[in-house]
Amino acid sequence: MTTPPFDPPSAADIATVSHQLGRPARNVIGIAARCVCGAPTVVSTKPRLDDGTPFPTLYYLSHPAATAAVSTLEATSVMPELAALLTGDLGEAYRSAHLAYLADRNSIETVPEIDGISAGGMPERVKCLHALVGHSLAAGPGVNPIGDLALERCAWSPTVCECQDYAANGNRDSGSSLL
Ligand SMILES: [Zn+2]
Repeated sequence: MTTPPFDPPSAADIATVSHQLGRPARNVIGIAARCVCGAPTVVSTKPRLDDGTPFPTLYYLSHPAATAAVSTLEATSVMPELAALLTGDLGEAYRSAHLAYLADRNSIETVPEIDGISAGGMPERVKCLHALVGHSLAAGPGVNPIGDLALERCAWSPTVCECQDYAANGNRDSGSSLL
């Protein structure tokens, strides 16, 4: 888990993320979380893309098994359930998570168009578990309470490697469909 400042991503990281996303990964400034095997699970993107577009989602869940598991979780009734928890201390912690997210992003670059806008529905709603789980994986447990709960409830775990052999030598020789 990593929040800014990030080490620059390696060429191998960018290659893996591109395979994960199925398109060339651009504007990547760091790898905010990794699988136990070292493969990226959360990618961090410039708050303003090279073409000028503001990009609020600092922590983007890139790992295919993780995104699939979170999509499956979203398809259940878990989102209204989690949203109903946003009272009292947990609601307060979620608002703090929103501020932590903004502070992380603003430490890289302040982009006026997305000032005060974080991700995933924070600070008052639960709209995208991928964004919230991405934040939890980057920041570590105890920062984003809803992301933490979603991560616990989804079928994927950062401690169990479910990586395809994106960059393994085998791909090059076998004409893998990933390439
Ligand atoms: Zn792995």
